Amino acid sequence: MAKKFYITTTAPYVNADPHIGFALEIIQADAVARYHRLLGEEVIFGCGTDEHGLKIYRKALEEKLSPQKYCDQSVTAWNKLKQVLNLSYTHFIRTTERRHLEAAQALWQRCQDNGDIYKKTYKSKYCVGCELEKTDSELEQGRCPIHPNLEIELINEENYFFRFSKYQKPLLDFYAQNPDFVVPRYRFNEIIEFVKNGLEDFSVSRLKSKMPWGVDIPGDPNHVMYVWFDALVFYISTLGWPKIADFAGFWPGIQVAGKDNLRQQSAIWQAMLMSAGLPNSQQILIHGFIQSGGQKMSKSLGNVIDPIFLSQKYGADALRYYLLAKIHPFNDSDFTIQLFEEAYNSDLANGLGNLTSRIITMCQKFTGGVVPPKIELKNHPLRKLEIAVWKMLEQKMPTFEFHLVLESIWNFIHALDKYIDETKPWVLAKQGKQKQIDEIIFVLLDCLKDLAWLIAAFLPEAAQKITTALNLKDLLAKDPIYKDNWASLKPGTKIKPIKSLFPRI
Ligand SMILES: [Zn+2]
Repeated sequence: MAKKFYITTTAPYVNADPHIGFALEIIQADAVARYHRLLGEEVIFGCGTDEHGLKIYRKALEEKLSPQKYCDQSVTAWNKLKQVLNLSYTHFIRTTERRHLEAAQALWQRCQDNGDIYKKTYKSKYCVGCELEKTDSELEQGRCPIHPNLEIELINEENYFFRFSKYQKPLLDFYAQNPDFVVPRYRFNEIIEFVKNGLEDFSVSRLKSKMPWGVDIPGDPNHVMYVWFDALVFYISTLGWPKIADFAGFWPGIQVAGKDNLRQQSAIWQAMLMSAGLPNSQQILIHGFIQSGGQKMSKSLGNVIDPIFLSQKYGADALRYYLLAKIHPFNDSDFTIQLFEEAYNSDLANGLGNLTSRIITMCQKFTGGVVPPKIELKNHPLRKLEIAVWKMLEQKMPTFEFHLVLESIWNFIHALDKYIDETKPWVLAKQGKQKQIDEIIFVLLDCLKDLAWLIAAFLPEAAQKITTALNLKDLLAKDPIYKDNWASLKPGTKIKPIKSLFPRI
């Protein structure tokens, strides 16, 4: 039976526009999901939208729509992402779906049965943009640094609370036993420090009379759940929990989230799981924020990078390449159109695209458009280099260092170009040295075939086009043969012409 693998992004608020930071998150998760599929594993890749809370309730009122209708309209922008970014997610959950509501209520019930939910008066400063309580030390000039244009609101009502404080020691013990739980390490240290400093119980409900847009609380018609408490359950409602079906085989999974989600994912959610008697998440990958021209993106600065526009203009593979190769997987990074276009031209148009055209065109010209006789490649310097790239892939995918994997693949691309420049098949053709030409073209076609596999998790469309040109079976077939000879080139096989993978800008 195939190994089971589960990865999920966060569920963004449905009212927001899909922004470049979320594109980064979902493309990172997609690359990992595709990689595990290529290894022959059975993969669930989940994503979805968070549709409750005060922010969405107010937006709906502004638009004079029922909150549900407002969410139904807003979700279409998110549904488009799958095609636009060429995503391979298998599950999409909206937190207003019945299966999610039931999971959130079941989890609440378990926490309550465990004595971790109680009532008290809630007084706090609240950022509606974050849907989070803010302490004075988190505010800058009385405002949330992430939402400086919003007023901080005061909440004063009787709410249900979650006994977060009880989980300080269990969380610290869990962290100590799972030294790779949060990646990168410096984010892990941040959350360990946070938990060490002591945890405060937090409010997990809202008075329905003031804010009715949330999941009903079991046994109390006067309250709805606090949006985060319900939203975090999304990680397991995706798997059909509380039904056991997929949950048993796929949980725990990997969660990908931005640095602003560190506390919710790696502390709050983990405490909720402990309270409900469920296994903790397997791992949390925390990515940084993307700035533009050294500044936070904002409409007023006119520096907003729209992932949908970029993908439609340059192709999903181009955006995927840039986000995975040139944006650091963990640290804050800068994104400008100029940098993007430079990378597109040098690495994709003149790099992968040009190499592919060169090899296929030479095969058409010099070996009659078919795979020449097979030669042994075991001791070939290019094969040795290729093995180093495979090792990089194996070592760096589990640590989410996509940029290092791609850098190594691009070294291989440069080496192939250099091999062509040095062996000069066009000169050999004039000299009538057909046997040498056959050998060179075979080496190149065989390397191109493996290159398709190597890039498949990152640039799935280019990989598929190369595979089709080489007349090989579908790369994304259920059980591809991993690595050596994942498909072998049969001499005499017809090679199809290929259109430019990345036309120059
Ligand atoms: Zn905020």
